[in-house]
Amino acid sequence: MSQLLLRRANVFAPTPLGEVDILIVNQHIVAIGPDLNVSLPDLQEIDLGGRVVIPGVIDQHIHVTGGGGEGGPVTRCPELTLSELIGAGITTVVGVSGTDSVTRSIPNLLGKVRALNAEGVTAYMWTSNYQMPVCTVTDSVRMDLFAIPEVIGVKLALGDHRSSFPTQQDVMHLLSDIRVGGMIAGKPGFLHVHLGDLGNVAYDILDACCDGGMPIKHIRPTHCARHQTTWDRSVAFALRGGVIDVTAGHSIFDFASDAVLAAMDAGVDPTRITMSTDAHGSMPRFDENGVMVGLDVAPVNGVWEDFQRLVQACGFERAIGFVSTNLAKNLGLAGKGEIKAGADADLLVLNDACEITHMMAKGRMMMRDGQIVVKGTFEH
Ligand SMILES: [Zn+2]
Repeated sequence: MSQLLLRRANVFAPTPLGEVDILIVNQHIVAIGPDLNVSLPDLQEIDLGGRVVIPGVIDQHIHVTGGGGEGGPVTRCPELTLSELIGAGITTVVGVSGTDSVTRSIPNLLGKVRALNAEGVTAYMWTSNYQMPVCTVTDSVRMDLFAIPEVIGVKLALGDHRSSFPTQQDVMHLLSDIRVGGMIAGKPGFLHVHLGDLGNVAYDILDACCDGGMPIKHIRPTHCARHQTTWDRSVAFALRGGVIDVTAGHSIFDFASDAVLAAMDAGVDPTRITMSTDAHGSMPRFDENGVMVGLDVAPVNGVWEDFQRLVQACGFERAIGFVSTNLAKNLGLAGKGEIKAGADADLLVLNDACEITHMMAKGRMMMRDGQIVVKGTFEH
């Protein structure tokens, strides 16, 4: 049993609550308000002195087991460590697999997701990867959704030279499995779509699925701002009610945060826009002939830099939505993305420079005064 009282926190829940106290018991926030009068045995108190406190970052696209492999075994990206998530303020992650369906198995992804949960953050996963037929842990998408609590949906690549080039009927069948499997499992059920540079190919299929009767809420495209056509079609998709995800780093804009602002300018509902890192994915560089000439590993803290820019542009309340609240709501992640009684105690404390000084995940202090105090199993 642990009881912690955070005094004088300037909370953006994301709604601004002003300076309040937050009482945390074990994993949960149990009370929040000004000058809480608390009497509990072994109560710890930390006075935050009016520093900003926000919900932890939620990232729905991280290659926790390492992505890459497009240039042979030597280009397989390394696994993610717990400290990287803590340093980037990420308290909830959805693990994802990528191009390599041969050496990166989906059970291996599940194992890593379970390890991260045990190490102190909250971790979910997309089953399958780029390919079709899909690869799952059990014998089917429906069974993965039903039997594996960590699975919230399925990944697929569209409009990409590394995809399986499924037809619209193939994708519709998969969406049907996700929708019905989700119903049976009691989950929303999503198709997380990796968009390549052929935006028209991808969206001709996705829009046809919607036109054919598939509710748009099941379709979740990502990498929306990496190519102009993909971006134009993504904005149109959001305007018809879809949720779009902008990846930090490489985009057609100077900064990925500019894509978020551009979507809002185009009339997209801000609550339908999210950001993710694609961390530990490989970022292949191609020459004009399509030959790969180099490789980078996408960083874990990419979204935080965009978040800082978005705070400047539109304030804490709205900026928190793009990296936390909108993800929790749109993915149906109970207890996440908000600071309120009953929610998980996933919190970030910020200094005046909008840098993370303290990070708490599931009620446990992971970073304190800028120092990471909880390490992963094999970190020292
Ligand atoms: Zn990726």
